[in-house]
Amino acid sequence: MMEEQGFDLTLSQSLPLSQDSFRELWETVVTPSISTIPTVTTDSNETWRTTDGQIEMMLINDQVLAEGFDNFFNFPETSTTDGVTPPASTVPVTTDYPGEYGFQLRFQKSGTAKSVTSTYSELLNKLFCQLAKTSPIEVLVTKEPPAGAVLRATAVYKKTEHVAEVVRRCPHHQNEDVHSAVEQRSHLIRVEGSQRAQYFEDQHTKRQSVTVPYEPPQLGSEMTTILLSFMCNSSCMGGMNRRPILTILTLETPEGLVLGRRCFEVRICACPGRDRKSEEENHNKSLSGKQTKKRKSAPAPDSTSAKKTKSASSAEDDDKEVYVLHVRGRERFETLKKINDGLELLDKEKAKTKVPVKLEMPPPSSGKRLLRKGEKSDSD
Ligand SMILES: [Zn+2]
Repeated sequence: MMEEQGFDLTLSQSLPLSQDSFRELWETVVTPSISTIPTVTTDSNETWRTTDGQIEMMLINDQVLAEGFDNFFNFPETSTTDGVTPPASTVPVTTDYPGEYGFQLRFQKSGTAKSVTSTYSELLNKLFCQLAKTSPIEVLVTKEPPAGAVLRATAVYKKTEHVAEVVRRCPHHQNEDVHSAVEQRSHLIRVEGSQRAQYFEDQHTKRQSVTVPYEPPQLGSEMTTILLSFMCNSSCMGGMNRRPILTILTLETPEGLVLGRRCFEVRICACPGRDRKSEEENHNKSLSGKQTKKRKSAPAPDSTSAKKTKSASSAEDDDKEVYVLHVRGRERFETLKKINDGLELLDKEKAKTKVPVKLEMPPPSSGKRLLRKGEKSDSD
């Protein structure tokens, strides 16, 4: 009971909105079967706690803190209590499978400019796109699939703790969308530019998907292009709630037998170019971070040496610049002055003879750059 109190406290702290009003809104847009599911606050806690009470609850608290609303709408899939559905179909498979037709996807190279509305990161296998903007996806096969084959797109939550929940549009975007056909209003993924797109909702799992007939490439082309658009932002409250999703694209026979499968992550956001760039940078940073951790025994290069390398590379520019160094103590000043005078002399000599002079003297260890032209003799 202590645990439940902790959970409630966290919820009320991190949810400034009234739960009741949001819940009412939610219930106006979901299918009737949802309302038969018992309320979340007590029953889903029971579900979470079935394996190992204490630890599970701590996890939930962390999650609620981190992700706000997420768990509030994490309804258990009790709509399958009729016992007819085989459990395997509840969690879609997200592993790549080219199959005998060599099923493959390719994305157009859109870069990370500010204006880009859809861009794919090879590094992260992740598509970044704007809400309701078209993302062309190229489909390649190595041999012609059977007649009547279809391509199916399904969205699932990426993280294990969310995967049981069906990905749908948020209540706001569903209600707002009065122009779309009723059967596709709640679908996150849409296929654009095809009259033959069909929208499905599995009657047992309630998972939604969209299919389009596979069309062989047009003459002179090696691939078929399909146009997908995503109808919510990843951050939509009551929808994805900032939970990352995967899109599964399958090549299927007319009977629904899977011939090939490809998955990629999707983030729907206002600035796809910017977000792709920063996520790729973070990815690279975390990789190099791991590497430096491994090599911890070797001393890390200090800022001084980094500065020196930089100035050496632009020695030509630095040549004309005069640097001021503040030195503490007369004796040290005299020493450094001698070094500098020597280097100036060397430069004069070099200018006269035009013969490269090797600098034998080590650079000063006091940190700041005092000497000019010193490195030049090396690079000549
Ligand atoms: Zn939305």
